[in-house]
Amino acid sequence: PLVLGIETSCDETGIGLVRGHTLLANTIASSMDEHARFGGVVPEVASRAHLEAMTPTVEAALAAAGVRLSDVDAVAVTAGPGLAGALLVGVAAAKSYALGLGVPLYGVNHLAAHVAVDQLEHGPLPKPCVALLVSGGHSSLLLVPDVAQDVISLGSTVDDAAGEAFDKVARVLGLPFPGGPHIDRAAREGSGTAVTFPRGKIDDGTLDFSFSGLKTAVARWVEARQAAGETIHVPDVAASFQEAVVDVLTRKALAACKKYDVHDLLIGGGVAANSRLRALAQERCDAAGVRLRVPRPGLCTDNGAMVAALGSNLVAAGITPSMLDIPADSSLPITTVHV
Ligand code: ATP
Ligand code: MG
Ligand code: FE
Repeated sequence: PLVLGIETSCDETGIGLVRGHTLLANTIASSMDEHARFGGVVPEVASRAHLEAMTPTVEAALAAAGVRLSDVDAVAVTAGPGLAGALLVGVAAAKSYALGLGVPLYGVNHLAAHVAVDQLEHGPLPKPCVALLVSGGHSSLLLVPDVAQDVISLGSTVDDAAGEAFDKVARVLGLPFPGGPHIDRAAREGSGTAVTFPRGKIDDGTLDFSFSGLKTAVARWVEARQAAGETIHVPDVAASFQEAVVDVLTRKALAACKKYDVHDLLIGGGVAANSRLRALAQERCDAAGVRLRVPRPGLCTDNGAMVAALGSNLVAAGITPSMLDIPADSSLPITTVHV
């Protein structure tokens, strides 16, 4: 079945077309240029941009896939979590397409979709797997017996998300928003051992994370040097901060695999695009005999293909489609895979 995926939870209008686990199109329009000068996504601006981008992005995706709208067999849309107004635009569009085409509609969880997307690159997910989900708004360790119906939370951040920490530290270092990719790039010229920053909750025996102390420590360190009239070597600070984040993420992810005796680890979400996270995770998985799956960076950040990928799982699992009155739920919990 050909599944159309619609993603509008933040600033990306993402349209994906997927058949089984085959990716046919992944077309994205982003309003990030309009938000960057505010140092964060402005919800009203994002909603309006989704409205304007929806039809042209769907048409571009159909053209890229070489299919017609009438070929679509099912529609999947992000029902949450995300910005309420932005989600509403996607959900309204998805209802219209599903109703107009007379095909089933699935309202899916954005976070589960960040996990499901890997199948487009590496095939069906091992059952079970452990998933480290690290994005702009979330950081969680998940046990995933079956991404179509069962996602269990093992731990999550008690304060900032990993991506949020990247974005806030970037700001301290004078790098543009969103800061993750800029820190990643700057860090390649620096040393991860230049400064030892705190690793929150590293040895507390839980599978939870904490990044707000690290963010504050970096800000204090930078302020102190600046007050003393010293120049900051941005690449060293970026690399040392990044090392602290990825050290904790990978250690806890492998601790989760060990605790639940799972031999497959998947990393998803925007921060999974980070080159140092990918490298260190590979190193530590190899040492622990755990197989690692991380989708290519373009599939880690928000997109429509991930929504179509999860929709495809739901269709294949024979899940009952959502009602046409599906909600847009800004705080949909990770354990609710579909609404
Ligand atoms: P959520 O999925 O929690 O709703 P979101 O959809 O806004 O949040 P994503 O698009 O999944 O988040 O991820 C965006 C985040 O990923 C931003 O915080 C961004 O800085 C971060 N990010 C993107 N690329 C990189 C990178 N190479 N290194 C580190 N962080 C990155
Ligand atoms: Mg985004
Ligand atoms: Fe996301």
